[in-house]
Formats: sequence, C-alpha cells, structure tokens
Amino acid sequence: MEVKTKIKFAKFAYRILFGTLVKFYTHHTPIWIMKMFPQLIWQKQVEEKILYITFDDGPCPEVTDYVLELLNQYAAKATFFCVGSNVIKYPELYNTVLQNGHGVGNHTQQHTNGFLSKNKNYYDDITTAANSINSKLFRPPYGKIKTSQINYLKKYYNIVMWDFLTADFDPDLDIEICKKKMEKHIKPGSIIVFHDSIKANHNLRILLPYLLHKYHHLSYQFHSL
Ligand SMILES: [Zn+2]
Repeated sequence: MEVKTKIKFAKFAYRILFGTLVKFYTHHTPIWIMKMFPQLIWQKQVEEKILYITFDDGPCPEVTDYVLELLNQYAAKATFFCVGSNVIKYPELYNTVLQNGHGVGNHTQQHTNGFLSKNKNYYDDITTAANSINSKLFRPPYGKIKTSQINYLKKYYNIVMWDFLTADFDPDLDIEICKKKMEKHIKPGSIIVFHDSIKANHNLRILLPYLLHKYHHLSYQFHSL
C-alpha cells in the first residue's frame, strides 16, 4: 500500500472509531491513533506518579458540586472542559471551580461536533465560549475534530484528548470491565475523561471515588493540566 493510501485508510478508520455512524468507543486510546495525531495531547510525559483527571460538559449543579467535594477530600486538582452555555447558566458554580484551584478548558459554546460543522462555524463557537472561559486548553466535543480544524486551532490552543475514557456517559456501561481496564491502562501521565453531567451522574459516582481511592493508595497525585 502506498503511504498516501495508508494515511487515507488510517484517517478513515479514525473517523469510524470516533465516528458519527457507529456508537462505539474504546476505554483506552490505541497507540496508533496517538501516533497518527501527534499534534494532539493524549497523555503527559512525567517522572512522578501523577494523573490528570478531566471533566467534560459542565458546570452542572449538584454533579459538579459532588465532584468538587470529592476532589477536595483527596487534595486532588483536575481540569474542567466547560461548555460555554453552561458557564453562562451557572457562573457561580464556574467560579467555584476556579476558586478551588482547578484548571479549565474550552469545550465550545454549544457542544459542537467538529465533524458535522463548517470550520468557520466551529471556530466561531469556540470564540464565543472563549468570552467566558479564559484558557489555552481546548477539547473537541465527542473527540471529533477534522485535520483542518486541528491545524488551525493548534495555533491558539493546546488541544487535549485523552488516553483513558471512562465512558461514564454510557447507561449500559459495564462498571467492572471499566475498572479492570483502568487498572490495566492507567499509568503516570495518563489523561482520564469523566463527565460532570446528568447523563454521567450515576456511573461517575461509582468510578470517580474508585479511581481516587485506588490511586491515592498507590501514592499517585492528581494535578490539573
Ligand atoms: Zn463533551
């Protein structure tokens, strides 16, 4: 296969993997995807036992409050990729996230899907969100972002993906399998995705305490990005 064809095939496979047509995800991001998109941040190179927990789609009353309380119990810092419209709705909660010393990132104004958007509309939505979210970090909703969007946005943002997706948003999530995958794949420098949303609330309240408890006892620290 020619290199160009290989790249085309790999990009196609990536779109399917994070695709719009198939409801499918992997907890652990495959290494070949990380290598194919080296412009994106998938994990951090660290010397110490540090994990980077992230929360997407908030702020969300009660769920974000629960997360903040639990993180405080472990002196853990995290990063919240906020949706601009939620920041507008719940400015006090957003300020509480900042006052607790956590990091924030831009997750668009309307939780916009990069694959389904015209680039200009996508950038406009991110700029609107930037009016209320002051951050150099950006995470594309659904992890769906075109190469052209990456090339433009990387001039202004560090684009943060993940190497471990809890899939807490999935009502059919198998919690035990998720815990086993965590044990197998999470390592120093891992970037882990949770959601502070109503949809994820049930699984979040099982998986977040599990992760914090387990890795705290393994002498890990939890930092913001
Ligand atoms: Zn999201």
